[in-house]
Amino acid sequence: MEQKEDLLKEVISHAKEYGFVFPSSEIYDGLAATYDYGQLGSELKNNIKQYWWKSMVQMNDNIVGIDAAIFMHPTTWKASGHVDAFNDPLIDNKDSKKRYRADVLIEEHIEKIRQKINKEVEKAAKKFADAFDEAQFRATNPNVLRNEEKIKEIEDRMRVTLENNDLEGVKKLIEDLEIVCPISGSRNWTEVRQFNLMFSTELGSVAGDAATIYLRPETAQGIFVNFLNVQKSGRMKIPFGIAQIGKAFRNEIVARQFIFRMREFEQMEMQFFVRPGDEMKWYNHWKAARLAWHKALGLGDKYYREHDHIKLAHYANAASDIEFDFPMGFKELEGIHSRTDFDLKQHEQFSGKKLQYFDPELNQNYVPYVVETSVGLDRMFLAVMSASFKNEKLEDGSERAVLSLPAQLAPYKVAIMPLTKKDGLPEKATDILNDLRFDFNCQYDEKDSPGKRYRRQDAIGTPYCVMVDHQTLEDNTVTIRDRDTMLQERVAISELRAKIEGKVSWRNLLAK
Ligand code: ATP
Repeated sequence: MEQKEDLLKEVISHAKEYGFVFPSSEIYDGLAATYDYGQLGSELKNNIKQYWWKSMVQMNDNIVGIDAAIFMHPTTWKASGHVDAFNDPLIDNKDSKKRYRADVLIEEHIEKIRQKINKEVEKAAKKFADAFDEAQFRATNPNVLRNEEKIKEIEDRMRVTLENNDLEGVKKLIEDLEIVCPISGSRNWTEVRQFNLMFSTELGSVAGDAATIYLRPETAQGIFVNFLNVQKSGRMKIPFGIAQIGKAFRNEIVARQFIFRMREFEQMEMQFFVRPGDEMKWYNHWKAARLAWHKALGLGDKYYREHDHIKLAHYANAASDIEFDFPMGFKELEGIHSRTDFDLKQHEQFSGKKLQYFDPELNQNYVPYVVETSVGLDRMFLAVMSASFKNEKLEDGSERAVLSLPAQLAPYKVAIMPLTKKDGLPEKATDILNDLRFDFNCQYDEKDSPGKRYRRQDAIGTPYCVMVDHQTLEDNTVTIRDRDTMLQERVAISELRAKIEGKVSWRNLLAK
């Protein structure tokens, strides 16, 4: 566990050192849960977007992409349920003035009890050594059983109070559990209130209530309100999908864990419109397709697990998360939701406009059902970075930090290096650079020893380094070094393009 926490710290500092991610407005000490993508981070992020866009939009005949505005008519959020129900229960400590999510405080309390149980198990494991039967111990030890029972009771009370919006009940639970504020150590709590997660602002030209508009908390609604525009102008036939990549904003109360939970983040969402009754078929289809998309990156299948929801959001009749083993443990990376006809029906009702599809095969009008896939771009970024980052011990005893990024996602595909800064080598290297940069994002590097330059490229995930030496001037060959194997091979300059293409081409990834 400790090792994994170290990994997050290492990834954060590596990301900063090499220009992937910076704390936002750092010269003013930063802004909580807000980050900027640097020169390499924006390349990596763009490549993740491309992978998604190519695979979802360009490789599918029946999916098209849009780019809707962040601001939408305020009634959108009434219709979607976000004004009334997009809430987190929050509680303040009067002494420290710190604000917490009430459910998170309770969950952390439960986690402490779990740790007690684990300690008990560890102690017994030591005591009984080889003779220890963990399952039996957990099933019979009175301390463990008592604590398990406690956890169950707390979870039940939390679920019931939250489901019934019984905020006094939630507070009573916090009091009964004697939960203290981690900062002040006191139990001097305010009432629990519902806190809407949407950011609002004012529209300049209108006065009064109508002036309040929101920063969209999800990109999905921009797709729903454009459903008929796209269907008609694109002559789309059901089943079909509309995809979008864009910013979303949520005033998260507990925002932490680097770019995992931010207040401004990016989503890659696709809404797939289907015949009523077909939704479970498509839900299962997209669950499998999305998991395969993640696994194709080759980070390792062990990083993924599926989590089917028991408690469903108000709009869903089935929902599942693809979870990723982040440095903080398994957490949601993508959600696949069967959203029924909830959103389109709501928009019909609130707008007074029909949002229906005429199905020529059935000779019938209906409001389509929707299956949604929604993945956080920033969470993808963190998943890719943290699974690719390694400190390797080499045979000669030295160490190297390497980002073994999937080649298609790497910011630079190849670094071109002259062995020395003289004898016409830089000129020759520049010629190669100027040719290859039409096809690949390349970097030129002539500073420091070759060994140091290789390490620098390893640290930013560049799959290939090309070294131009004196032999190059004689026979137009160069050495090309592979990031992962560190092996070098001599190839003709004329073969470079095909060689690099063989590794970094989107085709390799998309055909999987
Ligand atoms: P969580 O339970 O972690 O808050 P959610 O269930 O609210 O997430 P959805 O509303 O399903 O998330 O949003 C879809 C995707 O958007 C998530 O799977 C996640 O990858 C991403 N996402 C949601 N909230 C954030 C955030 N605050 N920062 C970064 N990414 C986010």
